[in-house]
Amino acid sequence: MSLFIASLNSGSNGNCYYIGNEREAVLVDAGISCRETEKRMAKLGLAMGNVKAIFVSHEHGDHIGGLPMLAKKYKLPVYISAATLRSSGMILLKDLVRDITTAPVSIGALRVTAFEKLHDAADPYSFIIEGNAVKIGVLTDMGKVCKQTIHYFRQCHAVFLESNYDEEMLEKGGYPQRLQQRIRGGKGHLSNFEALDLFVGHRAPYLSHLLLSHLSEHNNSPEVALDVFSVFADELTIAVASRYQESPVYHIQQNENLSANKNLVPFHTVQYELF
Ligand SMILES: [Zn+2]
Ligand SMILES: [Zn+2]
Repeated sequence: MSLFIASLNSGSNGNCYYIGNEREAVLVDAGISCRETEKRMAKLGLAMGNVKAIFVSHEHGDHIGGLPMLAKKYKLPVYISAATLRSSGMILLKDLVRDITTAPVSIGALRVTAFEKLHDAADPYSFIIEGNAVKIGVLTDMGKVCKQTIHYFRQCHAVFLESNYDEEMLEKGGYPQRLQQRIRGGKGHLSNFEALDLFVGHRAPYLSHLLLSHLSEHNNSPEVALDVFSVFADELTIAVASRYQESPVYHIQQNENLSANKNLVPFHTVQYELF
């Protein structure tokens, strides 16, 4: 009862996340080149033949850069909302396009659920991928944690969770005010502490892997982000999904027993903006 997951790249220079069982897999986003995607999957021993579909979170270039080529070469169905496709300007073969809805989609034995998120894009989505009784979340590019994000986050065994910026580094770095406001705003990105807040308040007792994702190159660093989560490092695997290379393949197992001897009562509650 397990799934295999990996980040092929994570950050404003490209995002691509692999989630699969022994026979089939999906990619969430295809923001690095087709060649690089192939290269990194081969390095990890992941077969492109297992990939059955690509799910697109939104139209920003770091999420779709390699998509047209990858979809065309491997004839992969692309689950993308009409508004996202329109805004992207991408030309995709018509018979590969599948409309994203919030109803779960079955890809072999995997079940993919898309749900809306708050980000400055036409029609952005987060995803939960479920299979073999294991749930994986791909939660990046969101300005705020909304009620739906909490609802799904708390079910996950492993999560790619955005931890984009350190507040102080953003404040004191060289970014112009307007850009800072965009990043910090309700439709920008999640800070390390916003990610921590979600994690501390709402993680499942059996959450075994937290993969900090989409770290800013200038306003964060793997060391700074990991430090924020360091007190939890002996309880679960916490790692950074790099903007420079693929992660290892993580084997995520159903592990409900973990809940038995842990005191996981949230130590504070925050009011989140609702849709
Ligand atoms: Zn992005
Ligand atoms: Zn984005």
